[in-house]
Amino acid sequence: MVHCDDDDLAVIALGEPASREIEEHLQACALCRSSLDQWVAVVSSARSITPDDHLVAPPPSVWEGIRDELEPRATVTSLDDARRSRRPVGWLLAAAAGVGLVLGSVATFGLVTSSTAPSPSIVAQGGLDSMDGVAVAGTAAVEEDETGRHLHVTVPDLPPVEDGYYEVWMATADASTMVAVGTLGPSGDSILTLPAGMNVADFPLVDVSVEHFDGNPGHSAQSVVRGLLAT
Ligand SMILES: [Zn+2]
Repeated sequence: MVHCDDDDLAVIALGEPASREIEEHLQACALCRSSLDQWVAVVSSARSITPDDHLVAPPPSVWEGIRDELEPRATVTSLDDARRSRRPVGWLLAAAAGVGLVLGSVATFGLVTSSTAPSPSIVAQGGLDSMDGVAVAGTAAVEEDETGRHLHVTVPDLPPVEDGYYEVWMATADASTMVAVGTLGPSGDSILTLPAGMNVADFPLVDVSVEHFDGNPGHSAQSVVRGLLAT
C-alpha cells in the first residue's frame, strides 16, 4: 500500500481539499489518518499563537534560521506552487511549530525561575495586640531581600475607617519617637518599604493607628494594634 505524502497531508491540514484518491486512502488507512491528525494539531497550535505569546522574544538565532530558510523560496506564492515544490509548506509548518516550542519553553523557564526566586529573609518579627478594645490582632515582620528592607504588616478583620485610613508606624520602644512608614490597605495586608538605614533595634515597636484626612502628619494617638519586634 502506498501511503499519503506528508506534504499532501500538511496542505490538507492547512484547509485545502483533499483529492479523491487521497480521501479514499484516508478512509481506508488509520496510519495516514493519524499523520493527518498530527498535521492538524501542528497547524492549530501554530495558528493559536497570539501577540501575548511574544512577551519574550526568542533568541535572534531562531529568527535568523527561519529567515535563512525562507529567503531562497520567497517567490513561492500559492499553495499550488507549494504543492509542486513539495518542501516549503511542510517546512513552514515545522518552523511555526518550532516557534511554538521555543515560546513554550520560554514560558516554562519563566515558571521555574519565578518559583525558585529567593524568598525574603526575616530580620525581625512579632505579634500585634489590640489597643483600643477592637478585637483584632495581627503580625508584623521586617523582611529583607535584594531590593531592601520591608515591613510586612498583617491585621485581618479591621473595620473600615470613617473619613480616614490606617497608618503604620515604627517607634522607639517607649513610643516617644514615631516614624510613619505607610498605609495599611483595606485588605489588612501591606508590605511597606522601610527607609534605608532605619534600624530595627532603634525602632522595635510597630503601631497601627487610625488617621483622618485632617492635614496633621503626626500620630493621632488612636492606636488600634501595637507590638514589639524581636530579632
Ligand atoms: Zn496510508
